[in-house]
Amino acid sequence: MVVEMTQTSKLIEGRTGSWEIVLGLEIHAQVASHAKLFSGAAVGFGAGPNEQVSLVDAAMPGMLPVINRHCVEQAVRAGLGLNAKINLWSRFDRKNYFYPDLPQGYQISQFKDPIVGEGEVEVERDDGTTFIVGVERLHLEQDAGKSIHDLDPNWTYVDLNRAGTALMEIVSKPDMRSSDEAASYVKKIRTILRYLGACDGDMEKGNLRADVNVSVRRPGAELGTRCEIKNVNSYRYIQQAIEYEARRQIEIIEDGGAIHQETRLFDPGKLETRSMRSKEEAHDYRYFPDPDLLPLELDPAWVKAIQDSLPELPDPKRKRFQSQYGLSHYDAGVLVADQARAAFFEIAAEGRDAKLVANWTVNNLLGRLAENGGDIETSPIPPQDIAGLVKLIEDGVISSKIAKEVFDHMWAGEGTPAQVVEKFGLVQITDTGAIEAAIDKIMAANPDKVEAAKDKPQAIGWFVGQVMRDTGGKANPAAVNEILKTKLGL
Ligand code: MN
Repeated sequence: MVVEMTQTSKLIEGRTGSWEIVLGLEIHAQVASHAKLFSGAAVGFGAGPNEQVSLVDAAMPGMLPVINRHCVEQAVRAGLGLNAKINLWSRFDRKNYFYPDLPQGYQISQFKDPIVGEGEVEVERDDGTTFIVGVERLHLEQDAGKSIHDLDPNWTYVDLNRAGTALMEIVSKPDMRSSDEAASYVKKIRTILRYLGACDGDMEKGNLRADVNVSVRRPGAELGTRCEIKNVNSYRYIQQAIEYEARRQIEIIEDGGAIHQETRLFDPGKLETRSMRSKEEAHDYRYFPDPDLLPLELDPAWVKAIQDSLPELPDPKRKRFQSQYGLSHYDAGVLVADQARAAFFEIAAEGRDAKLVANWTVNNLLGRLAENGGDIETSPIPPQDIAGLVKLIEDGVISSKIAKEVFDHMWAGEGTPAQVVEKFGLVQITDTGAIEAAIDKIMAANPDKVEAAKDKPQAIGWFVGQVMRDTGGKANPAAVNEILKTKLGL
């Protein structure tokens, strides 16, 4: 049976025909919290080794975990933001495995009964079209510590600062069909979590990272065997890892081999994935309910209160920006991708031509900021000045062309739009007398062009260009066109 998907498969051509990539993601997002999931130890980045470790985190005998209510609230908030089912009854399980940076000998996670069940997320592609990714579940679990192998040739050091930090693991359904879709999905999850304040989304610090499950199949065939690429922490790496891994699998199958389920690591230096360990099954971990923790029972009224406190999320905000301000799907999407951008726009658009404000914010300001490696928080131009610039255009004080020059001065910190216009004499010439004089001069100097324009009305463009040059771009274009038409008898 062929299932119709909203996803668009970007087929890969192998030697023996076309292949489709199937992708599912497990995103680990660090819960925004001051304390760990089961201890009062601080969570923070940049502390000295083992400075943020309680006796619980170090798994001293007899220590008991105590659930952090704030982390539970954050998980519920995230679940609601993903349009997912909140399970009022959930439970913590021990996932047993040995690792030097896991002193308990097990990770406290949620196995059969996660706090959040199925949900779905609408994801935008770069071209503005959208697709739906199903969320399988979201569960709470502890992060492990960190082994440090490069400090000493003979010893491995262990830093437990991260041990016990609360993570939300968001498991998607295998609903993505290209590396672009996977990257867009991670972007969307990150945006939603940041809106909710449930995770800061800092991928460089590893606070949001993805395990990517990759398999390939003939279009429409059964799912192939998947390999999981662990802990990829940038959009670009996610895309590169998928592209490499899909090619690797296709080559093996086309050579007559079979894919073995395994866990792999992506090496960004070599742009390849390599085997880490053969994939373990759930039963290898001997999961069982943690006897130190009671099941988690949520009060429906508490969940309702969290629901009522949610901020306006990216999807409804985008729709509102389109209907309230008349913005294009694209501009609205760029603006709501970040809460600070959206807030900036709304301040600037107050009482102004909103489409013009969006245009200046998206194309000029965000473009310039991106070139300089910044975003709206680092903008040297406040929203009031974008509003001021647009007002000058609306009032006909400056043309859009001059506005670009004014913008450059604003960017350089040379004042508000009004101050810049004053200081550099950039006021638009709307005085028809001055424009007429400029036109007369040009016509007198170019009788042949005047003659030609009578047969070829589109030659008016040449005259407009000349007037603009003579007036330093300050002539009002509408007035120039009007007067030229009359004078040329068009
Ligand atoms: Mn996990």
